[in-house]
Amino acid sequence: MSAQEQELFALAKEARESAYAPYSDFKVGAALLGESGTIYLGCNVENASFGLTVCAERVALFKAVSEGERVFKAIAIYAGSKSVPPCGACLQVMAEFGDLDILLFDSKGSYVKWRISELLPQAFRLND
Ligand SMILES: [Zn+2]
Repeated sequence: MSAQEQELFALAKEARESAYAPYSDFKVGAALLGESGTIYLGCNVENASFGLTVCAERVALFKAVSEGERVFKAIAIYAGSKSVPPCGACLQVMAEFGDLDILLFDSKGSYVKWRISELLPQAFRLND
C-alpha cells in the first residue's frame, strides 16, 4: 500500500465517524482524491424516508464536483470490519467522471483495489 493510499484510508476512517446512520447503524466513510490533489470526504447520510439516504461515495463526489473538481484518481472506502464495494448507484455516478481506483479497506488494515470499469464495465453514458 502506498503512502497516499494509507492517507486515504486514514481519512476514510475519519470520515466514517461523521456517518449519520441511526436506522441501519451501517456507517461508511469515503475519501476521494481529485486530480488537483484535494481530498474530499464523505459519509453516508440516512433519512427517515429511506429512499432519500445517500451513500458516502456520492456525498464525497458531489462535494468535489460542487467545488469544481472533475477528474479523480482514487476513492477509499471504509465500512468497518469488512470491505464493502460501492453500490450500483454510486458506481454509475462515479463512472460519469471517468475511471478511477476504488480502494476498499477493512478494520484489519487489509485492502483490495478495483477500477470502476471492472465493477461496472457497461456504465451508462450519453456520449460514448
Ligand atoms: Zn452507494
